[in-house]
Amino acid sequence: MITRITGTTKLLGVIGYPVEHSLSPRMHNAAIAEMGVDYVYLPFPIAPHNLQVAIDGFAAIGVVGFSVTIPHKQAIIPLISEVSSLAQAVGAVNTVVRKDDKWIGTNTDVEGFIAPLLSICNQDWSQTTAVILGNGGAARAVIAGCAQLGCAQIHVIGRNLNKLVAFHESWSNSALFSHLHVHHWDKLPKYIPQANLLVNTTPIGMYPHINEAPLTSEEVKELPSGAIAYDLTYNPNPTKFLKLAQQSQAVTINGLEMLVQQGAAALKIWLERDIVPVDIMRQALIEHLELGVKTHNF
Ligand code: NAP
Repeated sequence: MITRITGTTKLLGVIGYPVEHSLSPRMHNAAIAEMGVDYVYLPFPIAPHNLQVAIDGFAAIGVVGFSVTIPHKQAIIPLISEVSSLAQAVGAVNTVVRKDDKWIGTNTDVEGFIAPLLSICNQDWSQTTAVILGNGGAARAVIAGCAQLGCAQIHVIGRNLNKLVAFHESWSNSALFSHLHVHHWDKLPKYIPQANLLVNTTPIGMYPHINEAPLTSEEVKELPSGAIAYDLTYNPNPTKFLKLAQQSQAVTINGLEMLVQQGAAALKIWLERDIVPVDIMRQALIEHLELGVKTHNF
């Protein structure tokens, strides 16, 4: 795939530190080539102390928009002009667009997380109990997604009680607070039989630790009938957690589709289009991962 760069080519990209492992340039440039639009999407390694100067520089050179990944998803918030209410609720921005000489930030991880759930399960979520493993940045988007779906209860399981309490408190002004509960990992066995939707947002099982899983095979067997097991990790595909869940007849979803759908949502914002070639974006990632190029998740 060759992107033709001309004197009029417009700039998109991803900021992170490090950013070399990001799969977003492959995914977005595949879509750009397919659409035949005059854009290019580049990786920008920006050290935390350079974030402000990088954003100012992006404005100066007319960057149209950019993705935001670790460690800038929270740090960018005070540096941009507007933050969508969703990104405010999540507490993280993953997509920024330049509009009327302003940087506008939003969070497409929530839409990315929900998309595969809506496509495989057209169900009433109001009876669903969601159990989320991990309480880091991705868990915040997952919680916002579960709230958007209308899940009845959201239980977050973490390994560090102090962080869990602070995490819980950070949602105290949110309407979903009364549905949100946090528990130490010791309590996980109690919540597995209630987990209609079990989401792994920890890196447990991610390449190269492919023989690890957040639950034992015995614990996975305790999932209720019809449960959905969702792993945000996409490398390997499937993870050990999802293999165990498949053996227990759970519906499984891996993190690739979330990555694709959050990217598609961002590209729609930057290009002001209703439709982008999602299949091409997905295929670009699958081909890359199947080539055996081992990367960490972005
Ligand atoms: P993060 O902010 O570092 O959070 C990771 C969470 O996992 C923390 O709560 C951490 O606990 C917990 N954790 C880590 N190792 C653990 C272990 N051995 N046992 C129990 N808990 C453990 O990272 P993140 O940004 O949320 O990302 C989490 C994962 O989601 C990564 O694998 C990332 O690649 C993936 N992700 C995928 C997508 C996608 O589009 N598919 C999008 C975003 C993220 P402590 O706080 O106690 O350390």
